[in-house]
Amino acid sequence: MTDLYILYRGPLASCNYDCPYCPFAKRVDPPELLRVDRADLERFAGWVEATADRRLSVLFTPWGEGLTRSWYRDTIVRLSHLPHVARVAIQTNLAARVSFLSTADTRVAALWATYHPGQVTRARFLRRCRELDELDVRYSVGVVGLPAHYDEALALRASLPPSVYLWINAADGHVYTADEEKRWTALDPRFGDSVRPHPSLGLPCHAGETAISVLGDGTVRRCHFIQTPLGNLYDDSWRAALHPRPCTNNLCDCHIGYVHLKPLALRDVYTDGLLERIPAAWPTT
Ligand code: SF4
Ligand code: SF4
Repeated sequence: MTDLYILYRGPLASCNYDCPYCPFAKRVDPPELLRVDRADLERFAGWVEATADRRLSVLFTPWGEGLTRSWYRDTIVRLSHLPHVARVAIQTNLAARVSFLSTADTRVAALWATYHPGQVTRARFLRRCRELDELDVRYSVGVVGLPAHYDEALALRASLPPSVYLWINAADGHVYTADEEKRWTALDPRFGDSVRPHPSLGLPCHAGETAISVLGDGTVRRCHFIQTPLGNLYDDSWRAALHPRPCTNNLCDCHIGYVHLKPLALRDVYTDGLLERIPAAWPTT
């Protein structure tokens, strides 16, 4: 069966946290938008259920925080039990309770968790990680590589079980000196993938062939970073639109994009952990 990787992003843009580096900090969505987000997600879940001719892997990439909303929690549990769904994961700040995952198939459900120093104590974040360990849920943990986060990232790495992969994202607009790059790489051996944007213009990319981005209304694009629609999920026009094609952007600087850039061969590095960002060879020792 052909694989299809899906990044889903509905209109939800609210978040309970107040990160200084984020435009969605403490944003509140009006009730009507939340109703639309919920209905869109339910429609998408129905499509996933019905689309059994592909091996589907889904990553929810909300603008804000999704796990504080029951419909994201319920959808992750629901999709995790489908035989043609290989992975269902979400990017989360891990503020919400994770006990809902006790009813999910933990061979399929996974989390991409980000620790935001200043928004939550390390102890509290680590308690959530321990809950995930007890539930046997796959997850990665990451930190934005701002200089002010370094000590916290170091302490987090020291406290996490070695089996948990800690990733570091290069901070937007920050140019890393060789020394800085070296010390962040000591924490995340794959920091080199993130530290500089990847030139991508004209290079072959899986996005638009075996990976797509889906918006709440069903608009299908090849990735979150190229706005041109390929079709819609709900009229089946996406099927004819999928084929090999080169990237039309100069640079690709986000992990959820460049993991699909063919010359980087990162699908070979992450294999089954591609969407939740866990390298296949982790732990390395
Ligand atoms: S937790 Fe994520 S979405 Fe929320 S404010 Fe921080 S960076 Fe933004
Ligand atoms: S390289 Fe990045 S921007 Fe270009 S098509 Fe692939 S995911 Fe999209």
